[in-house]
Parts: sequence; C-alpha cells; structure tokens
Amino acid sequence: MAAPKVAVVGAGLIGLSTALRVAEAFPSCCVTVLSEQFSPNTTSDVAAGMLIPHTYPGIPIHVQKQWFKETFTNLFAISNSAEASEAGIHLVSGWQVFKNPPKDEVPFWSDIVLGFRPMSTAELQKFPQHRSGQAFTTLKCNCPPYLQWLEKRLKANGVQMHTRKVADLWELHSEYDIVVNCTGIGAHHLVGDEKLFPVRGQVLKVHAPWVKNFIREGDGSTYIYPGIYSVTLGGTREKESWGLSPDPGTTKDIFDRCCSLEPSLQQAQDIKVKVGLRPSRLCVRLQREVLSRGGAKLLVVHNYGHGAGGFSVHKGTAEEAARLVGECIAALQGSSSRAKL
Ligand code: FAD
Repeated sequence: MAAPKVAVVGAGLIGLSTALRVAEAFPSCCVTVLSEQFSPNTTSDVAAGMLIPHTYPGIPIHVQKQWFKETFTNLFAISNSAEASEAGIHLVSGWQVFKNPPKDEVPFWSDIVLGFRPMSTAELQKFPQHRSGQAFTTLKCNCPPYLQWLEKRLKANGVQMHTRKVADLWELHSEYDIVVNCTGIGAHHLVGDEKLFPVRGQVLKVHAPWVKNFIREGDGSTYIYPGIYSVTLGGTREKESWGLSPDPGTTKDIFDRCCSLEPSLQQAQDIKVKVGLRPSRLCVRLQREVLSRGGAKLLVVHNYGHGAGGFSVHKGTAEEAARLVGECIAALQGSSSRAKL
C-alpha cells in the first residue's frame, strides 16, 4: 500500500504536538496540518502555559498522572538543552496558597513537579491573608515561541502546513486516509459535540521583570505566572461564554486581585489584555472513530477537549493519539492486503 496520508486539523498546541508525534512515530506517512488559524492567533497563544494539572472528572487519575508525567519529563529535557530558549521553556518556582487548607493536602501530581513541600512559616509571612501553602518548581511554556518552535520541528520532519477552514471532515475523504481532529473549541461546530463547551478566560500580560516566582490561589482563580517576556495575570473562568472581546471591568478586577497577592504589581507597565476559550469537556476526547457515508469510510482520531490543562498534558495525549493513528494504519494495511487476495 502507498504511504498513508494523514491530515491533522488544527494548529494550536494539541494539533502541532500531535502532528509532530505522528510524523516521528510513522516516518513513512505523509502528514499535513490544516488549520483555520496558526500561531499567534490560537487559544494556545493566550494561555499562561504553566505545567500545573487541571483535573478532568471523567478520566481516571492514573491516566491523567501518566499524561502529566510524560509531558513534564519531555519538557524538562528540553529545558535542560540548548533548545530551551528558542522553545520558550523554562523552570519556574513559586507558591500555591490557600485561605482554607485544601481537601487533598497532596495533589496527585506532587511527585512529578520538583521539590514539592509545605510552605515554611517565613514564606507564609508574605501572604498574610492565607493560612497554608505549597511550594514547588514546575515548567512554563511561553507562547507563541513554543508553538513556533513546534512548527519549525514539523517542517524539519517534512510536514506540510496549510491554512484551511474545514467545514466537514468528509471534505478530506478524497485527499487523506486518516484525519486527526485537534480543533479545540472548533469541534463544537465541526463534529457537533454538545459535550464540549467554552470556558472563557481573560488574562493580562504585563511588564514586571522583577517578579520571578509564580503565585497561585489554590483554587486557580487568581494567578501570577512570570514568563520570559511578560508576566501573565489571571484569571477568569466563565462557562458557556463565547465572547472574545476583553471586558474592562474584568481587567480591573484581575489586576486588583493580583496586586493583593503581590503588591509590587502596582508598578507593572505595558498591560495587554487577552481572551481565550478553553475547550472544556468532562474528559478529553481521545478516540478512534470510523465514519460511514454511502458505503464510504473515513478513519478519524479525535484529540480535543483539553479545557484548562492542555499544556500540562499535551505530550501524553499526543502519544495516545499517535497510538490510535497507528491502529488506523494497521486497519488500512489489513484492508489493502485483503483487497489483493
Ligand atoms: P486551540 O489552541 O484553540 O487550537 C485549535 C486549532 O484548531 C486552531 O488552530 C484553530 O484555528 C483550529 N480550528 C478550529 N476549528 C477548525 C476548523 N473547522 N477547520 C480548521 N481549523 C480549525 N493550560 C495549561 O495547561 N496551563 C495553563 O497555564 C493554561 N492557561 C490558560 C489560560 C487561559 C486564559 C486559557 C484560555 C487557557 C489556558 N490553558 C492552560 C488551557 C490551554 O490553553 C488549552 O487547553 C489548549 O490551548 C488547547 O489547545 P488546542 O490546540 O486544543 O486548541
């Protein structure tokens, strides 16, 4: 059989990382990324990019832990390499603070991040409104650089990238053998997934180079995440809100909440406001599906619905999606050898 042609639809974090894993795992395949938008115009470009997992209620914790571990291990290796600067990946230390002690004192990911420990009394003095906290070191991806670095790696692996809005997966049937759906919130319309909903997030990117440690309210409602070029201040979580325009009242509210955690942010400058729609679901849709229409079949792998935690698990879910693509290739090879008999 001829080399299978694989279309990955979507060029956010999930589409690019999945396309890269498929191209690496199956070098004989011809992989193409098709997307309506590329960096810097995706949800992934808005994100803070911190590796702190969000919990998906519909997925067993050991699976989520494995996805996080694969992602952390892979990105930790990049952060220790000469590629770190171009890829926009670095270690960052800081504190997660609680006004009331958390139900689970030790989160499931505590042994994957580095140096997880309760905060000391001296550290807690910095946060007079909080009663307890956890200190650890994790990784941060800076976007757009990370997405652009992934695009560069894709090109080096011979992957083509084209701007194209896909209105129906069937329109790819005559050109591709396998379609990988990584359209994030776009899957709500593309495949009519009613379980997928937006959780609108507004963040500020500010110039405050003296802020070196992250600070996060334990429930994730307010956060300060220093990156290479700016500090991300957040945030909001508005379920079922599709609006992409920044709200000035929300901007002031975010700024005030962050200043209450880190008063020196009053001196922050060059405030830019960004909005993104988290593609949320009870569980990530990581699934193989065979679509049928009038006797024709289309092999599809879905990889979307990463909600508030795409950066934290993207390498793990890309690995699983590539495994599902491998199953599709085996099915294609099986049907082509049966046709020859
Ligand atoms: P997207 O980045 O939205 O990519 C989808 C792609 O599909 C785009 O290229 C789009 O153009 C394309 N597309 C859609 N429909 C079609 C179509 N019909 N035809 C062709 N192309 C199509 N996660 C973390 O782990 N850590 C964080 O600190 C963090 N912070 C966040 C802060 C905010 C404010 C927000 C909004 C999110 C944050 N997230 C964070 C979550 C993370 O950003 C998402 O989980 C992740 O970006 C989802 O990536 P994606 O590739 O699925 O979606």
